[in-house]
Amino acid sequence: MSRSEQLFAQAQLAIPGGVNSPVRAFNGVGGSPIFIERAEGAYMFDADGQRYIDYVGSWGPMILGHNNAVIREATHAAVDRGLSFGTPTPGEITMAEKIKQLVPSIEKVRMVNSGTEATMTAIRLARGYTGRDKILKFEGNYHGHADSLLVKAGSGLLTLGVPNSPGIPEDFAKHTLTVTFNDIDSVHKIFAEIGDEIAAIIVEPVAGNMNCIPPVPGFLEGLRSICDDYGSVLIFDEVMTGFRVSRGGAQEYYNVVPDLTTLGKVIGGGMPVGAFGGKAAIMDYIAPVGPVYQAGTLSGNPVAMAAGLASLTQLEDPELYPNLFAKVDKLTSGLQERADAAGIPFTTNKAGSMFGFFFSKDQHITSYQQATECNMEHFRKFYHSMLKQGIYMAPSAFEAGFMSAAHSDADLDETLAAAERAFAELKA
Ligand code: PMP
Repeated sequence: MSRSEQLFAQAQLAIPGGVNSPVRAFNGVGGSPIFIERAEGAYMFDADGQRYIDYVGSWGPMILGHNNAVIREATHAAVDRGLSFGTPTPGEITMAEKIKQLVPSIEKVRMVNSGTEATMTAIRLARGYTGRDKILKFEGNYHGHADSLLVKAGSGLLTLGVPNSPGIPEDFAKHTLTVTFNDIDSVHKIFAEIGDEIAAIIVEPVAGNMNCIPPVPGFLEGLRSICDDYGSVLIFDEVMTGFRVSRGGAQEYYNVVPDLTTLGKVIGGGMPVGAFGGKAAIMDYIAPVGPVYQAGTLSGNPVAMAAGLASLTQLEDPELYPNLFAKVDKLTSGLQERADAAGIPFTTNKAGSMFGFFFSKDQHITSYQQATECNMEHFRKFYHSMLKQGIYMAPSAFEAGFMSAAHSDADLDETLAAAERAFAELKA
């Protein structure tokens, strides 16, 4: 038994499923999760001393690689000044100004502690602002685990095969309308019926919780014009895509401006941080200036702000994004070549520094339906072959992959060599 297997057995006695977030338990791929002890740059090291090239990056935050020295030092310095004060601090202003600079559609922003809090509050704010109850989301889009949003929510629920969660009253769920991602006609249709009851559309502008599915041309633009026509709030959930798909997020990359944006992951540099922001007229509807309530004992925590700011500041390096995108190109095209050579039906998607791969005969994956129809047996076998060879990818076919600034050309070559062997094993 490996040390990770021992730890997993022990963890299951004290923690439900042995994990503090479900997908970590490897339900999507079978077998025992690896327990990580430390990470550096592109690598993670497990409890058995094995090194992995990591394409999960703590599920997105580690765009600069693990244990980034600038973030580490800024965080240490903040710790030395005190962990939390429960008062306003200067660092929160710097953070808010930095976010506004990087994401210009955000005129005002509030910090919270997770992506879930950000989306939950954005929805409440949109409802309070419009005086409407219903919201529209897309099947397979995940927006955290707030009650209203845990309806047909992709990701961990897809991995576990649970479409909706018990514990959410039907009375809540009935206000959440769900339509098909990348299908603007389905949105038109529902708005034509009850558009004036819909407070908001919330969307992952690049879907990253049903593998990686970019928007088809016209989809995001269509959502923008429908919201304009019906006076609904357009919320881009950029918890994953923010500072990832490009420096200004998916809204910059696809040039479509939402009313509200939710952020998380990269914004905290690895600390538990989220944020929501957007048009001042809407944001001023939040307490204490407005009637919609939201609060947080540790919101804007000084240590988290220091880590996040040290992360965001480094994103201004003009070389960073072109390099990330080139590495994603090399990885996805290299995987495709090797799968083709082995005769394995396979395709890839990418959006900035996010990528996805599919064991599918379809060459263009644009829908939730297609993502769920992939060959899961191939995915599982490929996954475990890569893991054994020291390549750590998301342990689910319904998660995106993430490139970091720390991945070297040699890391990519090693990954592709491992993939060549994994495809050959699949063939055999
Ligand atoms: N929105 C999106 C698009 C996400 O990917 C996630 C988390 N993967 C969340 C919201 C929830 O964020 P958190 O896990 O920090 O609550």
